[in-house]
Amino acid sequence: MNPQTLFYLLLAIIMIKFLFDSFINALNSKHFNDEIPSELKGVYNDKEYLKSQAYKKVNYKFSLIMSAFSIVLTILFFLFDGFAFVDNIARNISSNIIVITVIFFGIIIFASDILTFPFSYYKTFVIEEKFGFNKSSLKTFILDKIKSWLMMVIIGGGLLSLITWFYQVTTNNFWLYTWALITIFTIFMNMFYSKLIVPLFNKQTPLEDGELKTAIENFSQKADFKLSNVFVIDGSKRSTKANAYFSGFGSQKRITLFDTLINDLETDEIVAVLAHEVGHYKKKHIIYNLILSIILTGFTLYILSLLVGNSTLSQALGVEIASFHLGLIAFTILYSPISEITNLFMNGLSRKFEYQADDYAKNNFGSEALISSLKKLSKNSLSNLTPNKWYVKIHYSHPTLLQRILNLKK
Ligand SMILES: [Zn+2]
Repeated sequence: MNPQTLFYLLLAIIMIKFLFDSFINALNSKHFNDEIPSELKGVYNDKEYLKSQAYKKVNYKFSLIMSAFSIVLTILFFLFDGFAFVDNIARNISSNIIVITVIFFGIIIFASDILTFPFSYYKTFVIEEKFGFNKSSLKTFILDKIKSWLMMVIIGGGLLSLITWFYQVTTNNFWLYTWALITIFTIFMNMFYSKLIVPLFNKQTPLEDGELKTAIENFSQKADFKLSNVFVIDGSKRSTKANAYFSGFGSQKRITLFDTLINDLETDEIVAVLAHEVGHYKKKHIIYNLILSIILTGFTLYILSLLVGNSTLSQALGVEIASFHLGLIAFTILYSPISEITNLFMNGLSRKFEYQADDYAKNNFGSEALISSLKKLSKNSLSNLTPNKWYVKIHYSHPTLLQRILNLKK
């Protein structure tokens, strides 16, 4: 394939993805005014239902504007040889390949982050604020940004340097070394994320003594899950939305409950949510996800190793000298239809795991409390009770509220 053809192929992939996403979003928006299914009557009163519809519409409009902005910018960047421009800047700063690669991605990532900054500001301080969700101060918001940039520089920059170095030293076999590196890094992060990264952004405290602790104690004894692995996180620092999650494995496993969840739910509802999270642990979902993502990474890296050295990739992006960083950019776009499919599969699997965790909670604690907690959580986050089924298949990592309730009542 000649570089010109590849250039148009890359553009076509980007545009088709944009059109496809827009189509699915539009399809979903057609259901914003659907009647609430009878199983879910009572989640919202009339006023709350109107508010949830307004919330859906505002978010839809916002995502339309943001994706239109980003596609226009991307296409202009392609048409005006943006990659060649950035490549040139990086090459003028250093002649070391590793430094060039890090500067190249650094510029692209920071520039796009700065360009989208007004959108994330608007989302938090206008939309979320208007609907009463936002609790973040401007200071927290900016500190979050700075911390995530620092993390990106240290962790992202470090990994990228190593991978570029592997490519320089071993060329065809670089994917094996990179695979080993990413595998070790993923396992490490899975185990220590809660201990190393979360504290940079949030405070986590062991559960306080009281009625809730006693209730959880009773359940965790029955379920053989150590209470010392249950933590409360100050989610209320940023948003009123509530959540809970299971993370880590082995000695590092833990369940994290948002303080907002504890605030919003009754004791037995919280224990039901905890039972669901224990279900994820009992069914080994973290381990399965980890193994699967390691296999997928190996597969992707192998395909990358077959293509990345091809100078057509760099030439398609307007640069004569073949380079690893341009090869990586072109590859990511070429591979994106395949990663769409693997995402679809991973989301499908995740929804299956959610049913299993719900079933565990149902069989070991009962379904009533879980149903009422799911209803409350949906109500408090103004969630969409009538999403389009294709939208769910593509984007939802959890089944819809209706699907979960029907499963729990089975
Ligand atoms: Zn779950």
